[in-house]
Amino acid sequence: MPNDTTNAKATKTERNSTPIPMPDQNDRLSAPFWRAANSRRLAIQRCDNCREFHHPPVGLCPHCLSDKLSFTEVSGRGQVYSWAIVRNQRIAAFADKVPYIVATIELNDAPGVSLLSNMPGTAADQMRHDMPVNVVFQEIAEGVFIPQFESAEA
Ligand SMILES: [Zn+2]
Repeated sequence: MPNDTTNAKATKTERNSTPIPMPDQNDRLSAPFWRAANSRRLAIQRCDNCREFHHPPVGLCPHCLSDKLSFTEVSGRGQVYSWAIVRNQRIAAFADKVPYIVATIELNDAPGVSLLSNMPGTAADQMRHDMPVNVVFQEIAEGVFIPQFESAEA
């Protein structure tokens, strides 16, 4: 007769050892974004022809169809558009991080761009629409940084 308790523990241990997903540093479209983040800079793709910003990065500008796209460093200042509080995490690698905030951030100097990010230093009851924020960079593995945001009001 199988021992269900033992099997359940083995499965739980296996899930807890699942690593956090890493940004693909070699992705054809997003590599410049991640390389900039590793240097603690926020760089957003911009069309060299019509000057529109795009995020996530694209291969062709959806406004003018130009393939002349480059990355522009931005300040990282912006405001909260919306947010959700994750309390029930099904991805094992993030299970010990709940509750956490997933926020849509509008960037002041990249009109039309919204970044989906986290606000690890902000309490859920402090969140509000239009809260000014600044980018911060969190090292998730040696030399690998991801942009996150914090309140600019503190
Ligand atoms: Zn364009």
